[in-house]
Amino acid sequence: MPEFSFRVTAREGLSRRGELHTPHGTVQTPAFMPVGTRGAVKAVTGQQLRDTGAEIILGNTYHLYLKPGDSLIARCGGLHRFIGWDGPILTDSGGYQIFSLAAMRRIREDGAEFRSHLDGSLHHLTPERATEIQAQLGSDVAMVLDECIATPAPAPAAREAMERSVRWARRARDRFLQLRDSPAPIAVTNPGQAQFGIVQGATHLDLRTESVQATVDIGFEAYAIGGLSVVESPDVMYEVVGHTAPRLPDDRPRYLMGSGMPDDLIESVARGVDLFDCVLPTRNARNGQLFTREGPLSIKNARFAEDMSPPDPQCGCYTCARFSRAYLRHLFLAGEMTGATLNTVHNLYFYLDTMRRIREAILFGTFGKLRQEFHQTYSRRPHH
Ligand SMILES: [Zn+2]
Repeated sequence: MPEFSFRVTAREGLSRRGELHTPHGTVQTPAFMPVGTRGAVKAVTGQQLRDTGAEIILGNTYHLYLKPGDSLIARCGGLHRFIGWDGPILTDSGGYQIFSLAAMRRIREDGAEFRSHLDGSLHHLTPERATEIQAQLGSDVAMVLDECIATPAPAPAAREAMERSVRWARRARDRFLQLRDSPAPIAVTNPGQAQFGIVQGATHLDLRTESVQATVDIGFEAYAIGGLSVVESPDVMYEVVGHTAPRLPDDRPRYLMGSGMPDDLIESVARGVDLFDCVLPTRNARNGQLFTREGPLSIKNARFAEDMSPPDPQCGCYTCARFSRAYLRHLFLAGEMTGATLNTVHNLYFYLDTMRRIREAILFGTFGKLRQEFHQTYSRRPHH
């Protein structure tokens, strides 16, 4: 089984074009990972995902642990085989979902105690357990359990969560290395799995610096920047990313967790980030919001009732090649499932095509120009 490795193949400023090798294939970076929460990227098949250009997907440990359970998935041969996706998969640790449970969870030094959103049953997730669950799932990249906190967070609370995250990272790494030598009774379904550490520290730059040092000292295959998907202001997020990413080892991929408006992708690549995931393209597709080169478009708008143009005239996806805004609006209003599929295909293609354009631009030294053009045509404000 090929080892996990990463190679930077071109640079422009802080941005990097690279190749990430995993036991299930190579990922061209910078890359965007569609989110397959419960073992499926909602509304699309694996083939449709491939056709949009996806090379790696994300699975949520919290959801898969609760249903159908990591032991069942291990008995079925691991997550790749179970869901019929033979490309690379990254799993999160469950920390973020547990954080989102708010009143239904309690963080202790040992781990996180939480009640299932499905049936209210009580569960205890420790850094060791989160590592074991992901070993049974057999993802190509496992994440350590971290403590995510709401922002803005006062420095003492942010420090406490950051320091606990470091202690948890150490325990997760120890368990990960133990499993390599003596896995029983855990069924390790992907012996080539890599483990990423996560940098925390909320919006406090000094805490981010400390977290980078302590997490890199433990030693992981690569590192992620966590806790920023809950930050409201893009400027604050860019400041933290700009501070943190360049401090991470240059020869390892850097993953910005959970943030990904289209302009965030460009701005974070410009600051040295290589990997992204976000539910926005898929979730917004199901809510009728389409991303286009001219900004977001709400397909339910009455002005599209007889608009026979494609959602995005510049897009090369299956949806834009065949279908009109009028038809997609009709499907949405009628509640037809096909509408969610066609919207998702378009939004994912838009994201993955943006990443393709970014990679090409870095290769040809035109990323700075692309970044400028992108901001002239794309805006967070809806145009329609
Ligand atoms: Zn399209």
